[in-house]
Amino acid sequence: MDSKQDIRALNKEQLRDFFVLKKDKAFRGNQVYEWLWSKGAHDFEAMTNLSKEIRKMLNDNFVINHIEVDDMQQSSDGTIKNAIKLHDNLVVESVLIPAKNRTTACVSSQVGCSLNCTFCATARLKKMRNLNPDEIYDQVVAIDKQSRLYQNHKLSNIVFMGMGEPLLNYNNVLKAIDKITSDEGLSMSPRRITLSTVGLPKMIKKLADDEVKFNLAVSLHSAIDEIRSKMMPINETSNLSDLLDSLQYWYSKTKSRVTFEYVVWKGINDKKKDIEALVQFCKKIPSKVNLIEYNSIEEDGFQQADAKAIDYYVRELERNNIIVNVRRSRGKDIDAACGQLANKKG
Ligand code: SF4
Repeated sequence: MDSKQDIRALNKEQLRDFFVLKKDKAFRGNQVYEWLWSKGAHDFEAMTNLSKEIRKMLNDNFVINHIEVDDMQQSSDGTIKNAIKLHDNLVVESVLIPAKNRTTACVSSQVGCSLNCTFCATARLKKMRNLNPDEIYDQVVAIDKQSRLYQNHKLSNIVFMGMGEPLLNYNNVLKAIDKITSDEGLSMSPRRITLSTVGLPKMIKKLADDEVKFNLAVSLHSAIDEIRSKMMPINETSNLSDLLDSLQYWYSKTKSRVTFEYVVWKGINDKKKDIEALVQFCKKIPSKVNLIEYNSIEEDGFQQADAKAIDYYVRELERNNIIVNVRRSRGKDIDAACGQLANKKG
């Protein structure tokens, strides 16, 4: 194990201070920062506007931890699933989802997950650690490169819907988004970024207080506590009433409509009472609903509901003036669809 510090854990000020301490000019810190973030350098030798002595001095003091795309699987629909190897050999997954004139990166925020949603493949991995800001940022850079290569345009959208619960890695996720949106990083608009959460009320309020500019999505899956708790154990401690309260707070501060991610499962939430509960819940908060096609994971016992039930949801939501989209799942043949990320090679 290399005991040198990861240079990307330092912010620009700290880098400037480092050079001052070494009796050099503070602006060298800016140059190094630009190499690390805008130019994505993985090696001090690449920093050609620095002298050999400075590059060696950096090399003596720091490492540049970076991710590697260890395995890449391409689906017949153009979706790409990446197995991303981290500096400590742990693996997470990230997915490129192509659409006409648009590419979305689905990125991970933790290695594994602690929340045990019963329908989710990632939950089986258990949480091993949080990702650092640079590890999140690097996934986006890797998918941007793939988008330019395979789709002929740059990455346009990002969703935090890969492995892990982003709000349980709050500081690092926000730092990564800062980098992604800053001019020294990728200059992406926060409006093109969506953070998807199981719905942790305290953290949703914190997002609102921190005046974030990105979009918020909540995996809802049921607007009935008893049913939601069965699928998402987190609902036992943070129930729908707490969730709603936090979302109302979010909206009052941000004026940004929340998206509910919702899968309709056969025999679980495909009845009239489920639809009515969802409609009533949505009426209490400016929102829209994404009905997501479900991809069953081996032996999990969950099955997607019949088309009839999904049509019924769409009809009732629209009748109540609630925006609803039906999202077809992508990359099913390579286990890259929602809820399928579990470090399984093809
Ligand atoms: S659905 Fe999300 S929060 Fe739930 S276990 Fe899977 S990765 Fe974790």
